[in-house]
Amino acid sequence: MLFSDTLRRWAAEDLLVQNAAYRRNLQVLGVASWAVVALNLLHVLVFALLRFDDAQRSTWASQITAAHGAMAVVMSATGLLTRYALKNAAPRLALKFLPEGVSVLILAWAVALTLMDQAISTNINAFINAAVGISIVFLLRPLSTLVILALGWCALALALGWTTDNAALLATNRMNAASASALSLLVSILLWRRYVQAELLQRALEESNQQLERQRAELETLATRDPLTGLFNRREFVRLAEEELARARRNHSALSLLMIDLDHFKTINDRFGHPAGDDVLRNVAELMTHAVRQTDRIARFGGEEFMLLLPDTSAADALHLANKLRHKLADTPIASIGAPVTASMGLACMPAGKTLALDTLLRQTDRALYQAKHMGRNRTVVAPLELETLASAHHPSTTHKTNTPAP
Ligand code: GH3
Ligand code: MG
Ligand code: MG
Repeated sequence: MLFSDTLRRWAAEDLLVQNAAYRRNLQVLGVASWAVVALNLLHVLVFALLRFDDAQRSTWASQITAAHGAMAVVMSATGLLTRYALKNAAPRLALKFLPEGVSVLILAWAVALTLMDQAISTNINAFINAAVGISIVFLLRPLSTLVILALGWCALALALGWTTDNAALLATNRMNAASASALSLLVSILLWRRYVQAELLQRALEESNQQLERQRAELETLATRDPLTGLFNRREFVRLAEEELARARRNHSALSLLMIDLDHFKTINDRFGHPAGDDVLRNVAELMTHAVRQTDRIARFGGEEFMLLLPDTSAADALHLANKLRHKLADTPIASIGAPVTASMGLACMPAGKTLALDTLLRQTDRALYQAKHMGRNRTVVAPLELETLASAHHPSTTHKTNTPAP
């Protein structure tokens, strides 16, 4: 691959991560600025206490003290500014370049410090420390780092010329500064590229995790839901019912099952067409979903047959709900056929403290439903086992009302 292609790819990737890198820089700066303040104050303390006999060293010591004092103030301001910038989701333009700005500032300060040092030594350690430091601490785009380091080096190389007439010393210091800058640039680029790759990899992983999660949810829906109505399918209903039944047995609570079959649905299909029939099924499903408790479960058991699982519900309460549902259905016209539909219902209940198998309950609802159809439809029939329970309970009249054919 051509070098220019690589650069172009890098530039495109840089754009993708630059906001994340900015946040990371702010987080680092939030801590680093106070660490620098602490270092500055330590320098101030040490150099303020130092006493020298000659004027040159005394001047140098007070310059260094002043430089560190000034930097402590500037870095404190930076720390506060960083805290402010971190709170802003969309910082102002000026704050967007806070990391770059602080890098320039630190390097300029290091140049000044190096110049002061020339009064008592020939080393340029302050500049080298700063160049390496900003390259390690900040995640800056290679071009920014290049510009900052190049500017820093030019400033130092120029200023060093004012401090010495020794051509050899000048050359070696300039070249050392150049090497330190080049090394810093290299480190900065390596760290930046590693960051970009890690960040993009993490995003790709997150994306594929989300995709997997979406696919899993989709598969779960496919496996557990009826596509037409969105209700549970038969298989999921049986699984949920077994669970609820086990819980009811354990807690000695009642549980009711209600089988619902739309009346003369074939006629609706024949008169209005299959799509209208589908629409009726969807409407009925929605109406029922809104009519029951959150803990109740509704499934589409077959073509136009629904099943309701009512945990913690006695036969009397279930019957009350069944009739409420039946009346609601009969009173709600469905737009696509311009009329309401009616339903027949078969109800079975496992009374509190009793143990019944799901199969038994299902068979009971089925038989009760068959009876409801046989007796003229649009009614609820309670399975015989529960009739006894109902008769001896507080609702002696419900049995009679239930089996009375609707007008
Ligand atoms: P009954 O009152 O005895 O229940 O009469 P019915 O016509 O409702 O019962 P039957 O079992 O004879 O007919 C059920 C009809 O339901 C037949 C079938 O075409 C229709 N059906 C089953 N599944 C669907 C479906 O997904 N969409 C539509 N539109 N119709 C369906
Ligand atoms: Mg039917
Ligand atoms: Mg049917």
